[in-house]
Amino acid sequence: VKGDDPKLSPAAGRRLSQYLRVLRGDRGAGTVSSESLAKSVGVSAAQVRRDLASLGHLGQRGVGYDVTLLADAIRHTLGIHREWRAVLIGVGNLARALLRYRGFAEQGFHIVGLFDADPAKIGTSLERLSIEPMENLVKRVQDLQAELAILTIPSDAAAAIAETLATAGIRGILNFAPTLIRTPATTTIPIVSVDLAIQIEQLAFQVQARSGARVVE
Ligand code: ATP
Repeated sequence: VKGDDPKLSPAAGRRLSQYLRVLRGDRGAGTVSSESLAKSVGVSAAQVRRDLASLGHLGQRGVGYDVTLLADAIRHTLGIHREWRAVLIGVGNLARALLRYRGFAEQGFHIVGLFDADPAKIGTSLERLSIEPMENLVKRVQDLQAELAILTIPSDAAAAIAETLATAGIRGILNFAPTLIRTPATTTIPIVSVDLAIQIEQLAFQVQARSGARVVE
């Protein structure tokens, strides 16, 4: 199975992640139907069949999909059948929480290096990793064989550091800085931004929309 199917859109990729999450909960079951996956994820059964058809001939009419085979095929397509090494830049409060989050390692994502600009933090250890100075970053990305970077720094520094990471050979960035970090070098690599403030704003918006209340200030 090819890991970088150019036909698969980011939205389809997100749905595959959601199907996989459902399959993990279904490990006891031998097969799963497109209808049941559709119901769990909140899309149509036709959508599920279209998404999964792009992975090969995995379903059998009237029987459904073999849970184990389907989960393996999705893992290959998403590129998570293998281990990934990531460096983490900016070891503040959010980074400390992420370092303790077991969900990353469980899915094969390993944080292998920590970097910060604050001299008071350099040389101190967290989860058995010593925080290193930013000057070491470019060289260490190669030593550590890191392909991904997690950015948990304030917005002002994010774009410049993303640029450095991209030129250092980092192949993808998970950006927690509440800013867009498009720079010449980063346009060549994927960036996924997690803006927690925007997410909670969306939640407030949906709750408010459901209540039907028009807020007029
Ligand atoms: P703390 O109180 O431990 O510093 P914080 O979460 O309040 O944590 P932030 O201001 O959000 O800190 O910064 C996150 C981390 O990013 C900090 O450890 C900070 O030293 C680091 N940092 C800030 N600017 C840079 C930079 N230009 N390069 C690398 N690291 C940076």
